[in-house]
Amino acid sequence: GKGIAVFTSGGDSQGMNAAVRAVVRMGIYLGCKVYFIREGYQGMVDGGEHIIEANWSSVSSIIHKGGTIIGSARCQDFRERQGRLKAAKNLVDKGITNLVVIGGDGSLTGADLFRQEWSSLLEELVKNKEITPEQKEKYRILQIAGLVGSIDNDFCGTDMTIGTDSALHRIIEAIDAIVSTAYSHQRTFIMEVMGRHCGYLALVAALTGEADFVFIPEWPADSNWKDVLCKKLMQERTAGQRLNIIIVAEGAIDRNGEPITAEMIKKVVVDNLHQDTRITVLGHVQRGGRPSAFDRILGSRMGAEAVMALMEADEKTEPCVISLDGNQAVRVPLMQCVKQTKAVAQAMADKQWEKAVQLRGKS
Ligand code: ADP
Repeated sequence: GKGIAVFTSGGDSQGMNAAVRAVVRMGIYLGCKVYFIREGYQGMVDGGEHIIEANWSSVSSIIHKGGTIIGSARCQDFRERQGRLKAAKNLVDKGITNLVVIGGDGSLTGADLFRQEWSSLLEELVKNKEITPEQKEKYRILQIAGLVGSIDNDFCGTDMTIGTDSALHRIIEAIDAIVSTAYSHQRTFIMEVMGRHCGYLALVAALTGEADFVFIPEWPADSNWKDVLCKKLMQERTAGQRLNIIIVAEGAIDRNGEPITAEMIKKVVVDNLHQDTRITVLGHVQRGGRPSAFDRILGSRMGAEAVMALMEADEKTEPCVISLDGNQAVRVPLMQCVKQTKAVAQAMADKQWEKAVQLRGKS
């Protein structure tokens, strides 16, 4: 059977294990040899015990675990051709010509580059006598399928990334907990949530946690934001509300592109309204804990679809990302998604926020 390897790379997220499990079992079911690569690209470069064959039971009892049991890493070596050459040798040694990469846009970009270079890497390995010409011929095509694991939901081409839903669960549990204590002491809480340059977590958390105010990167605060904020908080208190909740995305900014931080917001509230105001930065709690049912299903469906895509691929098939479109798992060209994701980042950097939102929505 064909050799498939699965690995997780970049930031971890809940539901990655469900995806790993589905890849292993669907692969075995279809008669493939399936391998884990531990510690992302670093394991691929280092080889040895980092690349091990998986069996049906090696992925038992992992679907409920957060993070990734096969480890994730950032890897400088893989950014250099020399590192990718070592990785190629390690894959050929094991007869692996199919990769399922679970990671963010960086990891997927690296995978695409690896595939483009594959034949020249094999040529170099033959020249160095590290593989035989027969091996080069036999393993001449590398197929790639990508799954997007990220709590930020910041990737174009898929409605939801693996981990976002679980992160939202963590966030709203925390908001609900904060609300009860805030109520008792009539406090105002400012909660900072993750998301890098994407406001998805903050926006959905604000809507579902009944926050009074939210700051997100895609909707930068106007120059009069301090007045608007104070007016809104006062209104709520006057109406009899005993507390206020403000959500701030870690990437929140104003119209000049300057960061808006929890500390800045606190100062405004304290100086103007003299409210008892506290900051809670949720941090890595958001990445942790058990994956939600949604992320378990999402990871499972995407993992299975990735293997199907690899099995159906021929020499002309372009690398794909498995994405969620409505409630369907579909295949979209990998580089198109990466390109669009980068275009969104560029639009944000250029302070073209409406364009960024449009680009993200269109994909
Ligand atoms: P994410 O996948 O979450 O976006 P990173 O951007 O840190 O995370 O990428 C994860 C890893 O993917 C990097 O440490 C590196 O090994 C590899 N990688 C990222 N971009 C490239 C690239 N342009 N070329 C080669 N490898 C890359």
